[in-house]
Amino acid sequence: VRGFENHKVAVLGLGRSGMATARALHEGKATAICWDDNPEARARAEEEGFVCANLMTQGAFEDISALIVSPGIPHLYPGPNPVVTAALNAGVPVDNDIGLFFRSFATPEWDNLEVMPKVVAVTGSNGKSTTSALIHHVLEHAQRPTQLAGNIGRGVLDIEPAVDGDVVVLELSSYQTELARSLTPDIAVFTNLSPDHLDRHGGMGGYFAAKRRLFAEGGPDRAVIGIDEAEGAFLAGQLSMAAADDRVIRVSVDQKLSGPGWNVFAKKGFLSEYRKGRQAGSIDLRAIKGLPGVHNHQNACAAYAVCRTLGLAPRVIEAGFQSFGGLPHRSQIVAEADGVTYVNDSKATNVDAAKMALGAFKRIRWICGGLEKEGGVGDLAEAAGEVVKAYVIGREAAGFAMQLKGVEAEVCTTMQDAVARAVAEAEEGDTVLLAPAAASFDQYDSFEKRGEDFMAEVAAQTG
Ligand code: ADP
Repeated sequence: VRGFENHKVAVLGLGRSGMATARALHEGKATAICWDDNPEARARAEEEGFVCANLMTQGAFEDISALIVSPGIPHLYPGPNPVVTAALNAGVPVDNDIGLFFRSFATPEWDNLEVMPKVVAVTGSNGKSTTSALIHHVLEHAQRPTQLAGNIGRGVLDIEPAVDGDVVVLELSSYQTELARSLTPDIAVFTNLSPDHLDRHGGMGGYFAAKRRLFAEGGPDRAVIGIDEAEGAFLAGQLSMAAADDRVIRVSVDQKLSGPGWNVFAKKGFLSEYRKGRQAGSIDLRAIKGLPGVHNHQNACAAYAVCRTLGLAPRVIEAGFQSFGGLPHRSQIVAEADGVTYVNDSKATNVDAAKMALGAFKRIRWICGGLEKEGGVGDLAEAAGEVVKAYVIGREAAGFAMQLKGVEAEVCTTMQDAVARAVAEAEEGDTVLLAPAAASFDQYDSFEKRGEDFMAEVAAQTG
């Protein structure tokens, strides 16, 4: 990190990104003053030689040049964070690791770099990880040097300094985009928008605003935007009015986009690229095993658009798609036994993601439930046309099941019970799908743990 030589910078939150921030500050000859409410986290930081100090004490920000906040810490909603408030009251700028990354990146001294590498930033409600990982995978497959970081894999301040020709692919959550003081990717992607994390952004408007910050004036040279929701369509329209047409690439899985601009769309599993009204490329996505379902076709369109912008030919992108294995816990086929397919989509932590998963398979025995997000799950019933039966888990399983009107639903509560019943009742040709439409925290530490539990139960009960 550049720009803080001989300054003190406060770091709030000492998880993976906080620790990477402290280290990067140290490398940049700044002193990190660290804090985390959790004494174990502080002990880890102190073991590494970092100074910890309670940022809530009087005068704590007197000689501090900036406060860097971890993405896991809510800073404004549901209530203002007292440390952030103290910093702002003392006139200390508040930023995060993403902001530091872009500031360092935009500084020519970044390891004597003369020519800038490209930075691709991906945001949206769903499909961020898949789209980011897919872009990264296609680039690797095409032997372009690339690194993947942000909300996926490594923290942004953990990556190697990039060199000319490198492509850094960043997955950015709304928490990260909201707080970053600098956000200057070369290519920015907006996958889609649906209600999620509304409690931390003060509603849908705040949530959209947080994501939109990536596309502010002076932002990306190229914007790849999913236009199947009103917000995306609005954003694309606004950006293309302000700049040359091919600054914006529109992406859709709903509409044929063959108009005058630069468009990538998928209809019935067939991806087409149109530029100035002419077809410029195509891929048959039905032949790509690692990208099942319309939602993955949306991710494929966005990744395709980015790779085209980076100069890859359609057939090179297609070859990359073909070897993409998918990400764990996202439409991941984990077993096939007695003609039944078992799919782990534990990452479907909200209603929209679960709807997508439900649309990607046939004759579904659906394991769902958990900690419900705002807005309830009543909407799911309309997407459950292929569901033979639901097996509901979670502490509030009964309440969850009641909302699934018109769907046969059994209250199972535990994963073990749900898998046991689904295995016993499934017939050849069925798909047993874990797509919870809810967070995992009522029963698990994370969606990964929930997915692993599902896989372990499937292995135990089908083996
Ligand atoms: P994110 O990183 O945005 O959470 P992931 O790629 O990890 O996105 O996918 C999260 C969940 O959302 C998965 O369970 C998947 O079923 C669903 N999903 C993936 N891509 C999309 C999409 N384009 N639209 C809607 N849902 C999606």
